[in-house]
Amino acid sequence: MRVKILGSAAGGAFPQWNCACPNCRSLRAGKFKGKARSQTQVAISADNQSWFLLGASPDLRSQIESTPELQPRFEVSNGIRQSPIAGAILANADIDHVLGLLLLRELQPLRIHATASIRRILREDNSMFAMLQRIAHQASWSDFTTGEIFPLRDSQDKDSGIRCRAFSLGTHFPAYVSVERQQALAANQASLGFILDCPPSVGESVGRTLLSATAGKRLAYMPAVPELSDELMGWFESVDVLLLDGTFWSDDELIRIQGSGQTARQMGHVPVSGPEGTLCKLAQLRRPRRIYLHINNTNPMLNEAGLEYRQVRDAGWEIAEDGWQFDL
Ligand SMILES: [Zn+2]
Repeated sequence: MRVKILGSAAGGAFPQWNCACPNCRSLRAGKFKGKARSQTQVAISADNQSWFLLGASPDLRSQIESTPELQPRFEVSNGIRQSPIAGAILANADIDHVLGLLLLRELQPLRIHATASIRRILREDNSMFAMLQRIAHQASWSDFTTGEIFPLRDSQDKDSGIRCRAFSLGTHFPAYVSVERQQALAANQASLGFILDCPPSVGESVGRTLLSATAGKRLAYMPAVPELSDELMGWFESVDVLLLDGTFWSDDELIRIQGSGQTARQMGHVPVSGPEGTLCKLAQLRRPRRIYLHINNTNPMLNEAGLEYRQVRDAGWEIAEDGWQFDL
């Protein structure tokens, strides 16, 4: 399985349009030791031909244009309009995570894997998403539930060979979802993390199960982790690469910088630092390559000249950058 990190910042990207925090100011002034980042977007492929998006970021158009593998390949048999993007798997209904779907609307066939709750928010409450359903076989939606192992399929229902297992991470739906609607939805379908693998033998894989002894190497995609349960930490030890929520350095980061607002935990993110932070709590993690993703522009670990960056790197963690690629 090939994994490409197209975007690595939290919502708003880095720098953020309305932010003059020390990081954003310094980057704009050309004095920052560190990189700008677009909003989190990961793409995976079992065959390097057909690609699946983990979420669909608002920066997707430019992310596709900077990634040749995701650009249309002209073939006479397929015509002018086609795309290597076979589908998307949605981890939540946040605007930063789903807005890119609207950018993929040009009558292009697409498979969208989502929980029933996320599908209903987008399709039943947000009429703009009807643009994905203008013709037959445009967007094909497939529901999944947490704990279930499901294959990623393309718009033609072809099995990609990649298996996914979804974990319920948080129970909060986005603020734009009405209270009445939230009451009609399943809270455990609000915010998810995924463990994905690609069993060695594609095609004959119906009987194979994800996370069995015969499974391929595993990727964990956990962009919004509100709590580190023992169960979740146990799963982390079973993967080869962990892409983990690195949104905030400290719990009161936004409050200190803005003068008001919510804590990291109130926003559904365990901070990186502190005795209960991910760096400390996961210090014993041995197996996976550990990479922080979904990093907010205020996070001091973005500054490669800073102590926080050094602390993270010394602990064996990496901080994702746009354009990274690796094979599992
Ligand atoms: Zn900022």
